[in-house]
Amino acid sequence: MDIHEYQAKEILARFGVPVPRGGLAYSPEQAGYRARELGGNAWVVKAQVHSGGRGAAGGVKLCRSEAEVQSFAATLFGKQLVTKQTDANGKGVYRLWVEGASDIARELYLGLVLDRKSERIMIVASAHGGMEIEDLAESDPDSLRRMTVDPAVGLSEYQARELAFQLGLSGGQIAQMVTILRACYRAYRDLDAMMVEINPLVVTGAGDLVALDAKMSFDTNALFRRPEIAELRDRSQEDPRESRAGDLGLAYVGLDGDIGCIINGAGLAMATMDMIKLAGGEPANFLDIGGGASPERVVRAFQTVLADQKVSVILVNIFAGINRCDWVAEGVVQAYREVGMTLPVIVRLAGTNVEEGRRILAASGLPIISADTLADAAEKAVAIRQPLAA
Ligand code: GDP
Ligand code: MN
Repeated sequence: MDIHEYQAKEILARFGVPVPRGGLAYSPEQAGYRARELGGNAWVVKAQVHSGGRGAAGGVKLCRSEAEVQSFAATLFGKQLVTKQTDANGKGVYRLWVEGASDIARELYLGLVLDRKSERIMIVASAHGGMEIEDLAESDPDSLRRMTVDPAVGLSEYQARELAFQLGLSGGQIAQMVTILRACYRAYRDLDAMMVEINPLVVTGAGDLVALDAKMSFDTNALFRRPEIAELRDRSQEDPRESRAGDLGLAYVGLDGDIGCIINGAGLAMATMDMIKLAGGEPANFLDIGGGASPERVVRAFQTVLADQKVSVILVNIFAGINRCDWVAEGVVQAYREVGMTLPVIVRLAGTNVEEGRRILAASGLPIISADTLADAAEKAVAIRQPLAA
């Protein structure tokens, strides 16, 4: 789960990362008021959307008067901000962050990610910040410094100091960098984060380190024990198809193809998508209905998949261990009738109560196409599909 820049800054500040003073605004008038409240004579107005690359997309502006803050804010509110990282629809701007402008001498990059290979938190840093890490990795890969942290020891001071030296920091900046690194590490670890990124981390004209931008994302599987993080969720920034499915307890990811998939188990769902591709088709979605799927859940899964106009055929693939094929079959029959199905439906069942499941499908009298194996199901789906002309 992603959160907004201002939320990440609040969190990181609590752990000891220096951030500029700022305030949140929900209207242009409030943005102007924030500027006045902050004082000074220059402010940065920043669209709060779950995406980086806002600067290049016109979502960040340095303003020199309260009037300029207000008028720029007025152009941002309600806009769909399209950045390099969003799709063509962009992300809606409903909150702005107004910050006292910083005087920038140098821009550094700092990121913490989970390195699955070493099974450790990895710190990535560069003396050349400001641009996106992907671009940095391409244009200046040698500038990237990486180090992993031993979880039993935590981030030790000498490791942090070494990184600070590598970034060309000196004097009091070294101690500041150590504080920032350890704060980021603790925030990451203590809050079940998946990513912390400060880009740019700047050296100000006065020689101090300040986090000018901040990004955090969290492990959704750990949100149950982080209610204070879970409440930072902003649904306006999510793909509505995916958030609706999430509410229904379904793991759904929308894709570009036309073969709708209803499958139990993430691994089987991945394998099914591979088989569809192998057979020459394109999946419309990833959908895992999970174990113990009741008929009601199957109905909801059908509704979720059918909400995608591109779908021209539905493939149900169930390997029932915890699940029961008869339940799933009942759900398919119920869904078929409830949604007034007009698309072909292919069902492959295997595992617990498979005979009973097949009997229910056959006895329903519905034109459900049954398949014996995963390959058979994928081939049948590809043969029958009728994708919309592009
Ligand atoms: P992003 O484009 O979404 O990553 O948004 P950032 O918060 O990183 O802002 C983009 C750029 O705006 C930064 O890389 C800075 O160059 C610039 N910027 C942001 N805040 C300030 C500021 O306080 N002063 C100045 N001079 N530039 C700023
Ligand atoms: Mn940035």
